[in-house]
Amino acid sequence: MSEQIKCIGCGVPIQTEDKEGLGYAPPSSLKKEAVICQRCFRLKHYNEIQDVNLTDDDYRKILSSIGDTQSLVVKIVDIFDFNGSWLPGIHRYIGKNKLMLVGNKVDLLPKSVNKNRLKQWMATMAKEYGVKAEEVHLVSSAKGTGLQEVAEQIDELREGKDVYVVGCTNVGKSTFINGLIKQLGTEQQDIITTSYFPGTTLNLIDIPLDEETALFDTPGIINHHQMAHFVSKDELKIIMPKKEIKPLVYQLNEEQSLFLGGLARFDYIKGGRRSFVCHISNDLNIHRTKLERADDLYEKHLGELLTPPQDREKLPPLKRYEFMIKEKDTDIVFSGLGWISVKEAGAKVAAYAPEGVAVTLRPSLI
Ligand code: GDP
Repeated sequence: MSEQIKCIGCGVPIQTEDKEGLGYAPPSSLKKEAVICQRCFRLKHYNEIQDVNLTDDDYRKILSSIGDTQSLVVKIVDIFDFNGSWLPGIHRYIGKNKLMLVGNKVDLLPKSVNKNRLKQWMATMAKEYGVKAEEVHLVSSAKGTGLQEVAEQIDELREGKDVYVVGCTNVGKSTFINGLIKQLGTEQQDIITTSYFPGTTLNLIDIPLDEETALFDTPGIINHHQMAHFVSKDELKIIMPKKEIKPLVYQLNEEQSLFLGGLARFDYIKGGRRSFVCHISNDLNIHRTKLERADDLYEKHLGELLTPPQDREKLPPLKRYEFMIKEKDTDIVFSGLGWISVKEAGAKVAAYAPEGVAVTLRPSLI
């Protein structure tokens, strides 16, 4: 039966039901003598790493095994979804190994963003999560920006050890690794292998770095609390910017509200007429209304006027966070969507996001 058939590339048991899962192969391929899983197939023929989804348990096993190795851990985050794309518990799992933090999708930021400040903020957030980042880098895996520098830094930081690349789904880990393979040169491209991870039944893709060491791709975990999971695949294209975002300025009076589609809400409560700058996907509709009408509007028009999401059933209720903005130049960050910048101190605001999605303050990046 299909459970007994193993992939000739990596050795995982073949299954034909879950296309996104480990060991998937199309049913027709079972007729062949040598069966290869889709992930190995893509790697072999297209030199492409494909992500597979794992259960949380499997993932924890992989992560904790990394703690037993001597290696460099490269953690990829999506800079538009720092909190949502953080791997919970990573600080416990990496052991004594060094960690390099790579923020992906830098091509989406407006040119005016201060990259050093963003890196500092990432390092601070990592610290809050209990991890010391040896280095923080910003890259665009899609455009190739910053990859060469990262490749060089990896080589330096790893001090001759193995490298493990970790990240949750959708951060662009596959795109990153594919880009890195290009940096490594054709020699490596031809000798990519897949290998078992010692102590688990999970396979990792292994890209030789030299005779003894390798870079391992770990499968991505699904972080269930990401904004991305509350919308459909098509809607994700709306909320995830495709190109550099253009900041949008809103002049608001006290007691006015903004809806970011139906996924988030911002109330300006007190502090005199002033401007707020929205840094979100330019395809996402912003709807302005009076604060006193906002609850009613949301109740009546979520999924129509206020969209995405069209399917309101998938969306947990919005949770309210109230802030007094005490510092000038503050960003209110809606993880997975973007942020709203406040120039002057002294504003009382409330920010709402689906339960589980982080809303945080940080010094402005601009
Ligand atoms: P994985 O699930 O972490 O392996 O992520 P993928 O590599 O499949 O990428 C997830 C999504 O992010 C895809 O839609 C990619 O096109 C997009 N993506 C990946 N890297 C970048 C990047 O550097 N910039 C932008 N704008 N999008 C990216």
